[in-house]
Amino acid sequence: MTDDPFRNGEPLEPGSVIGIIGGGQLGRMTAMAARQMGYRIAVLDPDADSPCAQIADHVVQAAYNDRDAARELARMSDVLTYEFENVDADAADAAGEITRLWPSGSVLRTAQNRVLEKGALNRHGLPTADYRAVETLEDYMSGLKALSGPWVLKTATSGYDGKGQAVIREADDGEAFRELEDRSAALILERFVPFKLELSVICARDANGHTVTFPPSENVHENSVLDVSIVPARIEPHIAEKASALAKQVAEVLDVHGLISVEMFLTEDDEILINELAPRPHNSGHYTIEGCLTSQFEQLVRVLCGLPMGSVEMPQPAVMVNLLGDVWDEAEGKPGWAAALSVPGTSLHLYGKAEPRPGRKMGHITAVADTVEKALHRAKLARRKAKRGGN
Ligand code: AMP
Repeated sequence: MTDDPFRNGEPLEPGSVIGIIGGGQLGRMTAMAARQMGYRIAVLDPDADSPCAQIADHVVQAAYNDRDAARELARMSDVLTYEFENVDADAADAAGEITRLWPSGSVLRTAQNRVLEKGALNRHGLPTADYRAVETLEDYMSGLKALSGPWVLKTATSGYDGKGQAVIREADDGEAFRELEDRSAALILERFVPFKLELSVICARDANGHTVTFPPSENVHENSVLDVSIVPARIEPHIAEKASALAKQVAEVLDVHGLISVEMFLTEDDEILINELAPRPHNSGHYTIEGCLTSQFEQLVRVLCGLPMGSVEMPQPAVMVNLLGDVWDEAEGKPGWAAALSVPGTSLHLYGKAEPRPGRKMGHITAVADTVEKALHRAKLARRKAKRGGN
């Protein structure tokens, strides 16, 4: 790229176009932050009415692996990013040859494959659960012997929100392997980590290699899907510092430009193990919209456009609860949004998805308050009221 003004140290002018590969809610909220700052948005997604397409200036309607479409997106954009890891890395690289892609295609490839991801982390001395790459039944059986149980068997690629995973309590003769082997050529067997709690830290890293970490979030999952994010996490300050330092190291060793979200387990003996990386905004960072002076989305836009990173100061505690399609089921199709919003300190975010299928992420509610317990109470109360339906 020769005509990228940012390569010459100039920020992208307002009116420049940010291209996003993937049209989900993460793209939508990035687009909202970008629009606030006067930038324009182009998005590539198979769905012409995707959450991000609804507010984009330009929509390229195509499959994620359509390289020509990715190049078309690149030609209309001044900078490119992606909003989920399962976009096609070859298509992303094809686009990246035309217009700057941040984070890079190589960060994307590492984060797309749990074996590559853990290998890269361990090579740099960063801690993860013990694991074995599994391609054959023999690999699986020897993995069970090599690692102490229980275990978790996961697809190495294309997994998210706990999809393509099995917890194995007792060593078997390969049943779990046979169930997952059709889903992915590569699997990973991990030691099951008996964690005290789950944490995530989002780190932003700019063109000059400066890093800023958002306050660690304490995450509660339901059926392997994020349910609640509580910030500040209810952990000792030295644990929070260690988690933030790990996230910075990850951003540095992978040479990330943009955001990297680092999910971690805090074990019974206060060890931190990295579980998963996502080089993009993260569900556990939605709290930053109301909780921090600069949201994760705005921070990404700033980095992409060569602007100074913003303060991540948090004036008061914030708790986010996800709204899955199940909320509509419980409310018989008509959630009680007015009742939910009658709870003080709450904000409602809906992603513009037409069909509220069970398990589908439809939106979230964030509550702020002067204490974390109060924020937690408010967020959960608001969601209960939404589920009750009516107004
Ligand atoms: P993942 O798709 O790797 O983020 O996993 C989804 C969820 O499954 C995590 O947030 C954990 O709650 C749980 N999980 C995944 N891997 C492990 C593990 N090795 N030990 C214990 N729980 C796990």
